[in-house]
Amino acid sequence: MDDQIYLDYSATTPVDPRVLDEMLPFFTEAFGNAASKSHSFGLRAEDAVATARQQIADLIGASAKEIIFTSGATEADNLALLGIAEMYAEKGKHIITCVTEHKAILDPAHYLETKGFNVTFLNVDKQGKIDLDELRSAITDQTILISLMAANNEIGTVHPIKAIGEIAREHGVFFHTDATQAVGKIPLDVEEMNIDLLSMSAHKLYGPKGVGALYVRRRRPRVRLAPVMHGGGHERGMRSGTLNVPGIVGFGAACHYAKLELEEEGKKLQGLREKLEKGLEEQLDYLYLNGHPTERIPGLLNLSFAFVEGESLMLGLGNIAVSSGSACTSASLEPSYVLRALKVGDELAHCSIRFSIGRFTTEKEVEQTIKKVVAVVNRLREMSPLYEMAKEGIDLSSINWTGH
Ligand SMILES: *Cc1c(COP(=O)(O)O)cnc(C)c1O
Repeated sequence: MDDQIYLDYSATTPVDPRVLDEMLPFFTEAFGNAASKSHSFGLRAEDAVATARQQIADLIGASAKEIIFTSGATEADNLALLGIAEMYAEKGKHIITCVTEHKAILDPAHYLETKGFNVTFLNVDKQGKIDLDELRSAITDQTILISLMAANNEIGTVHPIKAIGEIAREHGVFFHTDATQAVGKIPLDVEEMNIDLLSMSAHKLYGPKGVGALYVRRRRPRVRLAPVMHGGGHERGMRSGTLNVPGIVGFGAACHYAKLELEEEGKKLQGLREKLEKGLEEQLDYLYLNGHPTERIPGLLNLSFAFVEGESLMLGLGNIAVSSGSACTSASLEPSYVLRALKVGDELAHCSIRFSIGRFTTEKEVEQTIKKVVAVVNRLREMSPLYEMAKEGIDLSSINWTGH
């Protein structure tokens, strides 16, 4: 793996070694069930879970009792949507979300449509932002929930969470945010931002896979949820099942370090991203940024390389681990629905690459990446008649490239 460069931190992150150290005892000598309150094994586990709950709550300005552990953000998103829908169906059957949400929101939203709910999917502009006036006018007296992500996982665009929270509060509608890509990267505060429910996942912030949480507001206003998982009444009855103690300990530790290092790390990631972006822009033409130029999480850069075939580009990058907006990596041949929502043409969507930089990325890796991408793109363009034509000034507008 020596010459491998990992630039896919938005897909998952390695466990921070400091986090792993804190987890290890809870696999072996401290293996107790956190629900076993009658002996020291259980009590030690319960104590560790309590510490983690507090560390997680601290990162988002919540109180420990408001943290409900789940198996990850997918489950947290499902619990938020399905749990609110069932609990408040008599109040109304309308939910508002957005076309660029993660599938963990879109799929339960579509499922609720089959159960008689009405869902509004807000559109976005070319940079991935919603129109707040459209949000306001979508709210009816039937609306029970607004669910809008804090930061998008493909393009990194950040929604104006505080403004959305204000609108939701004014109208007496609950506000859920899938903050999986934002937690630990940009400051979030559930009080200041009027967030009622918030999903997060440990493995996107240097914790282990398979553990996450849903923040559920307890006061002003109190949010009630119907459970999706029944049996045993753990987590205030909202999510039954024996707690994943080592995972939760790791999640807590990850949040502790994220809070401690958020500002400094944000600056570092922003710097590396700018270096990558500038380095590529200086040496390549026909390069298009997908997402918002500034209102974006610090480590993410999504670019389309015109006149290059996505699959060949990915293959050429070889030892550099990135994600593609084209289909070559996934089962379907559809271009990314997020890029489609930004009205990026299919050709440009197919040649898009998401670079996501993280805690362990070095300057040297960024430099090597620039070099490699430039070489591969130039090589592929040498074989492209369209690129040739564009360089000669032939109008290719009929091909409908978007961008500048
Ligand atoms: C990764 C991700 C999820 C899913 O999280 P898991 O913990 O892997 O289930 C949901 N939403 C967003 C925005 C994500 O980036």
